[in-house]
Amino acid sequence: MRHYRIAAIPADGIGPEVIDAGLEVLDVLASRAGFSLTVDRYDWGSDYYRKHGVMMPADGLAQLKSADAIYFGAVGDKDIPDHITLWGLRLPICQGFDQYANLRPTRILPGVTSPLRDVGVGDLDWLIIRENSEGEYAGVGGRAHRGLPEEVATEVAIFTRVGVERIMRCAFDCARARPRKHLTVVTKSNAQRFGMVFWDEIAALVAQDYPDVTWDKELVDAMTLRMVCKPRSLDTIVATNLHADILSDLAAALAGSLGVAPTGNVDPQRRYPSMFEPIHGSAFDIAGQGIANPVASFWTASMMLEHLGERAAATALMDAVERVCAAGVMTRDIGGSATTAEVTQAVVAALAGVNAIG
Ligand code: NAD
Ligand code: MN
Repeated sequence: MRHYRIAAIPADGIGPEVIDAGLEVLDVLASRAGFSLTVDRYDWGSDYYRKHGVMMPADGLAQLKSADAIYFGAVGDKDIPDHITLWGLRLPICQGFDQYANLRPTRILPGVTSPLRDVGVGDLDWLIIRENSEGEYAGVGGRAHRGLPEEVATEVAIFTRVGVERIMRCAFDCARARPRKHLTVVTKSNAQRFGMVFWDEIAALVAQDYPDVTWDKELVDAMTLRMVCKPRSLDTIVATNLHADILSDLAAALAGSLGVAPTGNVDPQRRYPSMFEPIHGSAFDIAGQGIANPVASFWTASMMLEHLGERAAATALMDAVERVCAAGVMTRDIGGSATTAEVTQAVVAALAGVNAIG
């Protein structure tokens, strides 16, 4: 039997609620589709930090390395600064495992209402590819003259030829695999003359290897406008670490809610395990109430299955999720009144109704 080892890191806030929901659904899928999963659960995160002074142990990456994939909840705590939680757990995994491609599919699911007028299922169907290893989040910078009037802080964006070229290749590959074969390269080369001009130049070079893919370029500020006013003009999108971070929250909102948006932090070369997580954070405003939307976590699980090569199970899961949404079994953030558990049970029931998977 095909077997996979999943490292689950539910972490903080609603993270454990949505990861538990996802694991429940994955368990049903595995038995239906004929593969088995071992789930190793790690208690790293903010509670771990309160006990041990670190978000994860020093040998954390070594513990994860042999997993086939990592299934991650969310980090963030009211009482611990965000840069400590983020740089203590999520970013060390992304950067340590060189998960340089952050894939963020966005589309409007049936039954979900977009805040955009006259935009429904099929009108907004994007794949955002975020550079995930360098750029504005390279972690290069520092502070001097701390606490003094002349204090200074720098945050340096790093663009390397290797880093930009590999994300462009990944983006053109993704665009090529989608029906429209269209890529939009997001930039800011009017104002940022070095890193962003370099980014554009490499995009143009890589494009030469993809004559079957049409592509265009958009400045990031104009991109926000285009996403809102002309969603149908976009398909695959590539942007820097910071730009894509911002644009993908906008994308999630335009598709209905942050609560449905998934992401994969992927090492396309498969040297290291890739990490799959909902885009949303720990949402402490709703944590513990049992009302978190598990759809992002399910969609994330579907991406993970696809990455593992379990395409039939991945498709079956998204089909089930779409049927449940279309039937109106939804949490509050997308206009329903169901709880996390009710949506999860509805997806389990929808999967049980499928004749065969795979
Ligand atoms: P958030 O994503 O946690 O929440 C934003 C809003 O969306 C909140 O109103 C929340 O209730 C709602 N929301 C999010 N996910 C939802 C879901 N599944 N179902 C229903 N509603 C949902 O972002 P925030 O409030 O800016 O940040 C909270 C904490 O999470 C911070 O500490 C932040 O640093 C952290 N964070 C972590 C990640 C991550 O782990 N990848 C991502 C973003 C934010
Ligand atoms: Mn973000």
